[in-house]
Amino acid sequence: MASAPSAAPAIAVHQLVKRYGDARAVDGISFSVERGDFFGFLGPNGAGKTTTINAIVGLARIDGGRIEIFGHDVSTAWRQARRLIGLAPQEYNFDRYLRVREILMYQAGYYGLRPRDVAARIDALLERFALGVKADAFVSQLSGGMKRRLTLARALVHDPQIVILDEPTAGVDVELRLELWETLRALRREGKTIILTTHYLEEAEALCERVGIIENGRMVALEETAHLLRSHARDELTITLAHPVQEPPPVLAHFGARVDPQDGARLRFERLGPLELSEVLALLGRAGIDVEAVNTERATLQDVFLELTGRGAR
Ligand code: ATP
Repeated sequence: MASAPSAAPAIAVHQLVKRYGDARAVDGISFSVERGDFFGFLGPNGAGKTTTINAIVGLARIDGGRIEIFGHDVSTAWRQARRLIGLAPQEYNFDRYLRVREILMYQAGYYGLRPRDVAARIDALLERFALGVKADAFVSQLSGGMKRRLTLARALVHDPQIVILDEPTAGVDVELRLELWETLRALRREGKTIILTTHYLEEAEALCERVGIIENGRMVALEETAHLLRSHARDELTITLAHPVQEPPPVLAHFGARVDPQDGARLRFERLGPLELSEVLALLGRAGIDVEAVNTERATLQDVFLELTGRGAR
């Protein structure tokens, strides 16, 4: 395995530009991922995520900027950089004439690892990803979920320090998704640095400590997930009245109440502290307005994403 200079971040992207013809698929983005971080790279379709990942792993020639992997420049020290990364790509790109175990052996060969040195590791990966019984099967004989697991096993063959997963849970059922989440958390505990792209924002929220949101080739947010949730989307508080109303009760004029357009019995508030809530309930009580329920709805990454990009992830 290549050496990793200790002080450098796992991944450092400076002012990356990638053009296709006149279009800038990636338009000067910068971000870094520290060793051991779990980073979510999010954005709508066509935003530039896969292009950025391809640039990081050396699959796409870059038109501007610089990318370093543990201090190794991907353009000038391609081999050292590439060995430190395992990529689980979005599209299946398996050789259909190879069997599952052979696919892993060939991958090891790309990194100069000899079969006898990796045989035990490959057995362990087949076991870990529940592919042992399919070791001699062709890819065409695997289910979609098995192909996803094989993609991940292949990314890990050379025991890379960084694992990049481009939509690893696209099209898998709920059970496998949760299983993959556990696998990714385990990799994180083993000290791997992980970059994940996903359109399932609850997935990014559950797994990623930091997220970057890209839109039209530009980074529109780059923050710790918890901080992003706190700073951009607000938790909402709802008070359900016993009877619907047309307008917020006048006694609540100073509290920014809105009547839910779908349900006139619901009053919605943003940023209502506990003291203000007691005051609101007391005012409603004094005005003879009965309250049925009080609920808070926690802001999600989906809310932030919509606020920043003005559209859904898919
Ligand atoms: P998705 O979520 O749909 O996978 P993405 O964020 O990964 O999207 P990219 O695949 O990086 O987006 O695409 C970014 C832009 O670059 C898009 O406008 C896309 O059409 C364009 N693009 C990507 N690859 C090529 C290519 N080989 N030739 C020309 N244009 C390309």
